[in-house]
Amino acid sequence: MTDEKKTPKIYVFCNNKGCKDTGTFRGWHNMQALAEDGTGLAGHLCSNHAFAAHDMGIDANGWKRDLYAKHYPDGFEVVWVADPENHEGIQAAFALPDPTAKTEESSA
Ligand SMILES: [Zn+2]
Repeated sequence: MTDEKKTPKIYVFCNNKGCKDTGTFRGWHNMQALAEDGTGLAGHLCSNHAFAAHDMGIDANGWKRDLYAKHYPDGFEVVWVADPENHEGIQAAFALPDPTAKTEESSA
């Protein structure tokens, strides 16, 4: 580990399994923003897959970035992920314990 400052990433993806922006998916696109530390930051239903750029703050002037800034006040990078099931960063975040979950010891 180093003390090197690294801009944290926020992954934005469409949570409709199999939706790959081909225009064939019919219905709402369930966009999600997941911090690299495993925190779910925001969600948004888009009527069009392509609206995620604005609605999920991938664009610098898009929505949700106020929420992202609360989680990462020192800066962040929003990354669009087209294929979350095969994305290393998202899979690593999924593997972490949910940081918002209450840490209750199981009675095992
Ligand atoms: Zn979609």
